[in-house]
Amino acid sequence: MPGTPRAGIIPVTPFQQNCTLIWDDATKVGAVVDPGGDLDRIEAAIREQGVTVEKILLTHGHVDHAAGADELRERLGVPIEGPHQADKFLLDSLPETAANYGLGAARPVTPDRWLDEGDAVTVGGLGFDILHCPGHSPGSVVFVSRDARFALVGDVVFKGSVGRTDLPGGNHEQLIRAIKDKVLPLGDDIAFIPGHGPTSTLGEERVSNPFLQD
Ligand SMILES: [Zn+2]
Ligand SMILES: [Zn+2]
Repeated sequence: MPGTPRAGIIPVTPFQQNCTLIWDDATKVGAVVDPGGDLDRIEAAIREQGVTVEKILLTHGHVDHAAGADELRERLGVPIEGPHQADKFLLDSLPETAANYGLGAARPVTPDRWLDEGDAVTVGGLGFDILHCPGHSPGSVVFVSRDARFALVGDVVFKGSVGRTDLPGGNHEQLIRAIKDKVLPLGDDIAFIPGHGPTSTLGEERVSNPFLQD
């Protein structure tokens, strides 16, 4: 009997990144996905929901998603899983990137576990499969629960848009191919939380997202 996922979005950083607290409703065991910053607000959300966080998950290495991960790991005493190793250069350079964007001090991140296509990640009783979806960044991953029909997609695809590909390692054709070949085939009924903006479903994006219409 698979667990039932619950999720709360905590917008963080000046980029309004959708840091997401996800948990198994049966056990209240959860994970923080993409703690880009504003750690006190993330910890307040954890307390408010009464969730026991067992890990931090990263969809990719960009500063708005990962800059708070190392400090949160220390505060909570939990491991970091993800992204794909191809984003190591981004995680290594988080202090410089954060300074360039005026975000203040940030630490580099060395995950406890890199993720790759076909890997499995658990959060309490919830199971997620990993898709490696490069293009927005080389090491972007998507977390999908096929049982719960739910995905965390980072900056791969948004409601009505797709990830920008003008940053180091970006490639628009590669991104569109990953979305069409790996993400959309998961099924129209998959609901997803993106890294920015409102939630959507893969079916809605398949028929109406202007970047996916040919
Ligand atoms: Zn990004
Ligand atoms: Zn982002």
